[in-house]
Parts: sequence; C-alpha cells; structure tokens
Amino acid sequence: MDDVIIIGGSFAGLAAALQLGRARRKVTVLDTGLPRNRFAGHSHGLLGHDHKPPLGILAEARQQLARYPAIRLVNARADSISGAIDDFSVLTGDGESLGARRVILSYGVADQLPDVPGFAESWGTSIVPCPYCDGFEVAGQHWGFVWAGSQSHQSAKLFQHWTDKLTVFADGHDIAPDIQADLARRHISVVDGRIIEIAHHKGHIATVNLDTRRTVAVDVLFAQPRNKPSASLHESLGLATVDTPVGIALRVDERRQTSMPGIYAAGDLTTPSLPSVTQASSQGAMAGIFAQQSMLV
Ligand SMILES: Cc1cc2nc3c(=O)[nH]c(=O)nc-3n(C[C@H](O)[C@H](O)[C@H](O)COP(=O)(O)OP(=O)(O)OC[C@H]3O[C@@H](n4cnc5c(N)ncnc54)[C@H](O)[C@@H]3O)c2cc1C
Repeated sequence: MDDVIIIGGSFAGLAAALQLGRARRKVTVLDTGLPRNRFAGHSHGLLGHDHKPPLGILAEARQQLARYPAIRLVNARADSISGAIDDFSVLTGDGESLGARRVILSYGVADQLPDVPGFAESWGTSIVPCPYCDGFEVAGQHWGFVWAGSQSHQSAKLFQHWTDKLTVFADGHDIAPDIQADLARRHISVVDGRIIEIAHHKGHIATVNLDTRRTVAVDVLFAQPRNKPSASLHESLGLATVDTPVGIALRVDERRQTSMPGIYAAGDLTTPSLPSVTQASSQGAMAGIFAQQSMLV
C-alpha cells in the first residue's frame, strides 16, 4: 500500500510528490500527460524557469524526482476512487488497483474553448488567457479582449498596464451603460456582434471576424473561457465545490484537505480562475506536506 496516491502529475502533483518523497513516504503519481498550458510555447513567471517550454519544465521535474526511490510515476488515468481515510482504493484505466492512506487530487481543469473556427488553432499562440503569463511579450501591441461578463471590467482595466491599444469584443454580451462609459473614458473601444471566426496563420491571429460582417485586426486576443475539472472523481466522492466566474473549484481548508477526510487537493482544480504554475506548485507542495503530517501517529 502507498502512503499517498497523487492523481495528476503536473505542476501541483509533482510538487506534492517531491515533498512526500523527501519525507520518505511511499507515493504513486498517476498522470495522463495533458497539462493545461501544453498549448503554450513558453511558460512565464515561475522563478528559475521563466520563458521555458512548459513540457520542458515538467520533464526536468520528473528527472529530479527519479532521485527519490519511494516515488513511482505512472502514465495512467485514475478512473475511480473508493474507500475512506487510511484505506483508499484507486482503479486505473489500465486495470491496476492501488491502495493508499491518503489521496491528493491535482488533475487540473480543461478550458471549454468556443466552437469558433480558428479559436482552438490559435489557443496558446495568439489567443491567451492571462496577462501575467503572456502580456510582457506583446506589451504595447493592439490587444483584443473577449468580454465574458461583468468580471471582465476588472480585466480590461488591468490590461491597460500593458497596452493603451485595447479593443473589447462584446461577443453577444450586453455591457452595462456605466461600464461602457468607463471603457469610453479609458479610450477602450467596444465592438458589438458575435465572434464567428478567427482568421490566423499557423495560430498567429490576423483578424477577428464578426457576425455583423465586420473584421477587426488585432495582434493578440485575450480570452477567459469557462473551464471544468479534467476528471469527475470529485463528483463520485461527493466532494464540496464552490462556484467561480469561470467554473467550479474544489473546496479545501487551510491544510488543503477537501470536504472528505484524507483527500487533499491542489492546483487549478482548487483555483481555476487564478491559473498559475507558481501557485499550483506551491499548493501542491503544501498538500504533500499536510498529507504527510496527517499520517503522524
Ligand atoms: C494557454 C495557457 C498558457 C498558460 N501560461 C502560463 C504561464 O505562462 N505561466 C503560468 O504560471 N501559468 C500559465 N498557465 C496556467 C497553467 O497552465 C496552470 O495554472 C497549471 O498548468 C496548473 O497546474 P496543475 O498541476 O494544477 O494542472 P495541470 O497542469 O493542468 O495538470 C493536470 C494533470 O492531471 C492530468 N490528469 C487529468 N485527469 C487525470 C486522471 N483522471 N488521472 C490521471 N491524471 C489526470 C493531466 O493530464 C495533467 O497532466 C497557462 C494556461 C494556459 C491555458
């Protein structure tokens, strides 16, 4: 039996494994190899790893974990969890049945990209979600921003720290008159109509095409689509969730324990609206430490 099974072996899951391996706990990490930022050429903002390919950072992390004999990395999907604290069972897609005293859920979220031609092809290249991740490289250029609701007002204000050429695409939303007035005061133009196509060359955006027959040229498009957890294991366990503007998040306490004793969670699964490799790594490390401490006798 393992001390801990970690489901999702990306930034959060591997950070948890590192702490547990160093604490000489027996750990199995199950992972399907699809981190959320796999579409991006470079990852930004992680100290010591800035501007490196995300898959390269993860490959280096896996190599470093090979130092720790108690950590087993398995390329497999976790299909189900049952049991209770000190005696959990996890069944993998390969039919392997594993037992552990604790489980850490770090399987991330999947972005629900709109069914607009060109959008998925440009995602991570010239359509990006977060200015802290990709804003510096395109500062001062013409940014488009897909409005997603009243929470987008704050984002539009934030973006002005990177560029003074910002166009908001209402994309079918009614933007309240007071917000429209504030955007006008900030010289942020608002384009009405729904986006029906992203014209691009190999993922590099050329124009945003609207159902009003208008086409608008931008250098980069920021969009924050809704997302959902990458697996449904938390549903079958009946874990408590909270709503965020972009999707649900698993509820955790200050020791990263979910509503079920012995099940911990970390990364985008718990903070989908503030996606960050730094935060996922930090939360994963803490989940590992708290899971380890909970097993002291
Ligand atoms: C386009 C884009 C660019 C980004 N750029 C940056 C950036 O520059 N800097 C930054 O800090 N953040 C960036 N982010 C955010 C970053 O990707 C996330 O915050 C980070 O990946 C979260 O890490 P995580 O470990 O929680 O989840 P993920 O990295 O999404 O990993 C979850 C892992 O769980 C696995 N998994 C899923 N289901 C199962 C299952 N049932 N069994 C086993 N394994 C499973 C998946 O395959 C995956 O490997 C970006 C996001 C996007 C979409």
